[in-house]
Amino acid sequence: MNYKIAVIKGDGIGPEIVTEAMRVLDAVGKRFGHTFLYEEVLAGGAAIDATGSCLPPETVRACLASDSVLLGAVGGPKWDKEQPPENRPEKALLGLRKELGLFANIRPATLYAPLAGACPIKPEIIGGGFDLVVLRELTGDVYFGKKYRDADGVAHDDMNYSVAEVERIAHRAFQMARQRKKHVTSVDKANVLETSRLWRETVQRVALAYPDVQADYMYVDNAAMQLVRNPGQFDVLLTGNLFGDILSDEASMITGSIGMLPSASLGETSRGMYEPIHGSAPDIAGKGIANPIATILSCGMMLRYSFDLSAEADAIDAAVNEVLAAGLRTADLAKPGEQPLSTRQMGDAVVKAVAG
Ligand code: NAD
Repeated sequence: MNYKIAVIKGDGIGPEIVTEAMRVLDAVGKRFGHTFLYEEVLAGGAAIDATGSCLPPETVRACLASDSVLLGAVGGPKWDKEQPPENRPEKALLGLRKELGLFANIRPATLYAPLAGACPIKPEIIGGGFDLVVLRELTGDVYFGKKYRDADGVAHDDMNYSVAEVERIAHRAFQMARQRKKHVTSVDKANVLETSRLWRETVQRVALAYPDVQADYMYVDNAAMQLVRNPGQFDVLLTGNLFGDILSDEASMITGSIGMLPSASLGETSRGMYEPIHGSAPDIAGKGIANPIATILSCGMMLRYSFDLSAEADAIDAAVNEVLAAGLRTADLAKPGEQPLSTRQMGDAVVKAVAG
């Protein structure tokens, strides 16, 4: 099969890490008999430099014409000062989510056994490790409600959720849980917020269609606590936009390694946008030392969620496990005294492991 991928390398370390991820995809293609066709387009700071706009129309066109989008990261100090808020590099991400109709953000937080030492939680708490996914609704909530200050100088941010918005993300959560450990924990603040009461009622109704999946309901303050108390209890954590923003960062921190975590944003179609959760890391850009694994694992998610190629996705996950188990580390993961690999060397190691 041929798959068309729009590639936005982005800024900072983006080009370095995406280049390695594309080499890994090519190795998967070679092993399993697929061809990945790349169309490189600009967004973020690189697009501002080339065209004046953080999200040129031809980039949106190319993404809409692709089977999926692979993104490095955008932004950097260079554009922070010069650009008005509406043309900041990060605005390109919001624009892409909107144009592509992406409403579900998936962030797995997996503790890889060879990296257990990097986890800030005590070994007796993490036990056999954890493998959870935060599924965050992306298009509703307080971020998109009416914002204003009234005549008394009081600031308002309206928090909104419709039944339809909650239903579609809830279905996604239960379907995802069916492919995993069959357990959804829906997070809300139903003891205080009306939007949360509607959220909970709706998720409870959707849950009836998935009797094989265990459904639990947890207040967000408790969920924040449970994530550090016993992360192994979670499988799919279903959240609204605001609570997911916070909990997904907490979930990523408990793995201890920002350079390892992939993400996916999905909509109604199979087309998604796949990117590492970290930013463009301007402090190490151009040095060839960034960890490409989060981007490589994002490609694995693309194969699984957009192209329905689970054996191929498993091959990427297995290759990453293999190189970590062999003790290979980039600088962000290396212990003092260990000789770290460069971005290219880590890419080489994963390519070799994928090839088998
Ligand atoms: P960051 O994630 O870029 O960096 C935080 C720290 O983690 C830095 O010390 C960096 O060197 C390190 N780091 C990040 N990724 C790494 C990797 N793959 N390997 C090794 N080390 C890595 O966050 P920041 O410094 O707050 O933001 C830098 C820029 O990125 C800002 O302009 C910000 O707006 C942008 N940003 C973009 C995205 C995105 O494109 N999705 C996300 C977050 C931040």
